[in-house]
Amino acid sequence: MLTQADLVLHLPLRFEDETRITLIAAAVPDAAAQFDVTVISSEIVYRPRRQLICRVEDASGTLLLRFLNFYPSQQKVLQPGARLRVFGEVRGGFWGTEMIHPRFRVLHGDEALPTTLTPVYPTTAGLGQATLRRLIGRALQEVDLGETLPDPIVKRLQLADLAASVRLLHITPQETAQPAARQRIAFDELLAQQISLRQAYAARRMHQAPRLAGDGTLTGRLLSTLPFRLTEAQARVWQEISRDLAEPHPMQRLLQGDVGSGKTVVAALAMLQAVESGHQAALMAPTEILAEQHYRKLAVWLAPLGIEVAWLSGSQKKRDKAVALAKVGAGNTAKCAALIVGTHALIEEGVEFARLGLAIVDEQHRFGVRQRLALKQKGLHSHQLAMSATPIPRTLAMSVYADLDVSVIDALPPGRTPVVTKLVGAARRHEIVARVRELCRSGRQVYWVCPLIEESEALQLKTAEETYAHLAAELPEVRIGLVHGRLKSAAKAAVMTAFVKNEIQLLVATTVIEVGVDVPNASLMVIEHAERFGLAQLHQLRGRVGRGAAESACILLYETPLSATARARLKIIYENSDGFEIARQDMHLRGPGEFIGSRQSGLPLLRFADLEDTALVEAARAAAEEMLAEWPEHAERHLARWLGGRAELLKA
Ligand code: ADP
Ligand code: MG
Repeated sequence: MLTQADLVLHLPLRFEDETRITLIAAAVPDAAAQFDVTVISSEIVYRPRRQLICRVEDASGTLLLRFLNFYPSQQKVLQPGARLRVFGEVRGGFWGTEMIHPRFRVLHGDEALPTTLTPVYPTTAGLGQATLRRLIGRALQEVDLGETLPDPIVKRLQLADLAASVRLLHITPQETAQPAARQRIAFDELLAQQISLRQAYAARRMHQAPRLAGDGTLTGRLLSTLPFRLTEAQARVWQEISRDLAEPHPMQRLLQGDVGSGKTVVAALAMLQAVESGHQAALMAPTEILAEQHYRKLAVWLAPLGIEVAWLSGSQKKRDKAVALAKVGAGNTAKCAALIVGTHALIEEGVEFARLGLAIVDEQHRFGVRQRLALKQKGLHSHQLAMSATPIPRTLAMSVYADLDVSVIDALPPGRTPVVTKLVGAARRHEIVARVRELCRSGRQVYWVCPLIEESEALQLKTAEETYAHLAAELPEVRIGLVHGRLKSAAKAAVMTAFVKNEIQLLVATTVIEVGVDVPNASLMVIEHAERFGLAQLHQLRGRVGRGAAESACILLYETPLSATARARLKIIYENSDGFEIARQDMHLRGPGEFIGSRQSGLPLLRFADLEDTALVEAARAAAEEMLAEWPEHAERHLARWLGGRAELLKA
């Protein structure tokens, strides 16, 4: 349902100037103009095709109006002597100066010209321009655009009047509109988003969750048996999480950290704190490979502590699954699995956790809205930690993740050698193949990532198989493996295990290896058709190497010619190694909407606000907090105007 507020916030795409009448003789070709004319003649011709040709004139000259589609009713009004006001573009045609399908209206007497420009609104199928104009025009007269912000905030931020700003933007082109008007609307939009997300945050905080204070026994033992010490950044975020877990309401935290920053161990610590407190902890990952890798890593870390990890995945044998499910749901403490790792099989119907205290989602942005909702429902009364290796710029995080607390691991563990990035034209592919041969001979391992083909998974698979065949022919002495999304998970796991064990030296892969795979001996990453990948994806892939002490490289093969945008994007990857900086530039290049992939994530696009305007985002956030605390009724009214009945959507 469109509300009046929705209608008046539907701003024009552009404007047409119907405030003036032009003489036919003064018409400029290909520019829109308006004429007052009288019909001289009107006839249907059949060559080259059926059309209505109408000759009209004003004091200065004549003009043809040509209609390829027309109704009999239109033909009827275009009778000699009729006076018309026509609007459209004039061009030189076969029959002389003409207009094709002009908009026209029959004039009755002297009709005054409008005094303001005519807005052209974005339309959708089934809702024509004329109807939309009428609806919006009426809404503009009737809508209540009264101030929803408390006076002190309006004054402090020196905001323009909202009603005046909205009205202005319906009659003034963007180029000439006062920035203050646009800014006011952008601010109100951001404010609505902030209020709504902070409200969702507060609402979830009202729920009870078990206090998982722990006693430090298990976490202490893990820390002392790990082959490394936590970095300062890891220790800090671990403290933040540990503190949240001890609270009697659900943690709602996002853990951001670049690829390889060491989020898994932080997750393990959090899970152990839950177990210390007598609760279960679950870790969900978006792909089988990643989930399995977590499973194996946790099993290794936790075996010395005597803790068993349960495994749940979609491709699991029925019998194994039944056993796992029984353990997950067992009321009897002795039989109950304390830690559960898996794919989205964890949130399917029929999975009952006996005492879930903490749910962790790895690479949370890769899950859909529905899955996130399902997890939220299962874990309504448990603590939640989302992890993401796709850094997002701070303003964006403040905006779209305003309903979460955010922790950031902002430094990599020591001892990593920086990855050297090279851009290489595909014509020099043979050089790269030679380099792969060298590396494999010296005992190193290599990833070879096949081009992303968005349109077709089948095509992508075919390409991967061809690449595999080519490389196998070119490098007969190298042990090559192939992994792609269509493989059954057991087969996939077998290939990955062989790669981990160095039984496979060169791993040809589609992007299934994108997230989380950890093989320190791999020191070269080759990405074909790098220009087709997203920057976050390239950064993730590059993060697969440089995990050991060996000097590592990432070779981005690209196809020429490169478009200007493709060039700009590859340059960003080439020049930057910090994921947050890459994300910032990526967002700058693509705009926040594209960047975050809002349509998939279910987050509404901001229509007016520019997330690169840090100051405005921060001001909106502060104002939202202030209003929720001190002017809750204002906050409600503001939300109603902007979201109408859609506030619930935002909370997904
Ligand atoms: P990500 O944040 O991308 O999930 P991982 O948790 O997979 O990163 O960690 C990457 C690698 O770094 C793993 O091999 C992990 O064992 C190792 N690692 C994690 N923390 C440290 C540390 N403090 N010192 C050294 N190595 C670490
Ligand atoms: Mg990870």
